[in-house]
Amino acid sequence: MEIVIVGAGVVGLATAWRAAAGGAAVTLVDPEPASGASAVAAGMLTPVSELTYGEEPLLRLGLASRDRYGAFVAELEDLTGLDTGYRTDGIIEVAFDADDLGHLDDLRRFQESLGIPVEALTGRECRRAEPMLAPGVRGGLLAPEDGSIDPRRLTPALLAAAERAGARLVRRRAAGLLVERDAAAGVRLDDGTELRADRVLLAAGPWSGDLDGLPPGTVPPVRPVKGQVIRLRARTPFISRSTRGIVKGSSVYLVPRADGEVVVGATQEELGFDTRVTAGGLWELLRDARELLPGITELEFAEVSAGLRPGSPDNAPVMGPTALPGLYVGTGHFRNGVLLTPVSADILAATLLDAPVPDVAAPFSPDRFSSELSPE
Ligand code: FAD
Repeated sequence: MEIVIVGAGVVGLATAWRAAAGGAAVTLVDPEPASGASAVAAGMLTPVSELTYGEEPLLRLGLASRDRYGAFVAELEDLTGLDTGYRTDGIIEVAFDADDLGHLDDLRRFQESLGIPVEALTGRECRRAEPMLAPGVRGGLLAPEDGSIDPRRLTPALLAAAERAGARLVRRRAAGLLVERDAAAGVRLDDGTELRADRVLLAAGPWSGDLDGLPPGTVPPVRPVKGQVIRLRARTPFISRSTRGIVKGSSVYLVPRADGEVVVGATQEELGFDTRVTAGGLWELLRDARELLPGITELEFAEVSAGLRPGSPDNAPVMGPTALPGLYVGTGHFRNGVLLTPVSADILAATLLDAPVPDVAAPFSPDRFSSELSPE
């Protein structure tokens, strides 16, 4: 089985690893691997804290992925000798004022109704857990099983594992899809080279529908949702676990790394393919982060960046075969692509190899958009 995967972000890389390890001849195509959202993401692994009403299937997918993470990382680090910065120290979510606390109480009741363990904390307990929190913080929740990973360490490890399993990386842009006898037959690169394959997986984030020659209506529309983040650096440990906060209704989070980096994120902006970092975006992040953790103003500034989350029409991943035989998609991971990496790789590799696909995948098939996609 020859497979071409377009896009080497977390989704394409992890799928390449699993599909190559499963026996396929895999070619990954990306002019700049891991240069999209995967290079910007904070890397929180939090199906629980991110829980939103009506997203129960996504919660199940997130839990399935989080439960796979430990073994996934152990295998990856063992195979490659590379550290991924994986942490399982829980995530604390705190409320700045009484209204924010009301919102967290609603969230806790919803989580408990789904049987998810969360611990409600008083303001004092929050500060005991994270002493740098502002004295005014009203209360919070601890999701003890959540964690984080450093996506900038994860992606090189995934590429090394994929290559070790036999996958080949071609550093070029896929410009067009080759279609023969009404089926995908490979891709045409931007230098005109044709890469022929039995199956093509589009895992190019919000650019997944950009190839010439895609029959209209085969790939669900995936829009870019901009997120800006700031990277700071602490000389001594600043917070001991990922800390999210609601500050007067708006969300902010800080994710610490073992080397002292603290990632502050993230804005959520629907501005097309715009990756400019703006003064307003940074100001909002620092304003809210300082309300929760006043000491952040003492940290050293390291970097600002913006990335584009791939958002499908229902903000959930789109994984599986399209209406064009031989053409598959693996995108739409929106705010959760790093969390969903292990389960997505299992789902997509199984789909590509005609192996049994995990049950949690069913709600995320591309055919849920078929009525929207069918040509007029
Ligand atoms: P991408 O990482 O965007 O990769 C797409 C790749 O496709 C790129 O490398 C690009 O070069 C390549 N490409 C594009 N066009 C072509 C082409 N024509 N030919 C070949 N290659 C092409 N998720 C979490 O789980 N936890 C978090 O804490 C988190 N925080 C985030 C914070 C921010 C600010 C942002 C922006 C995202 C965050 N996410 C988080 C979401 C996560 O980053 C994404 O869901 C995930 O990275 C998507 O991965 P991907 O592989 O689909 O796409």
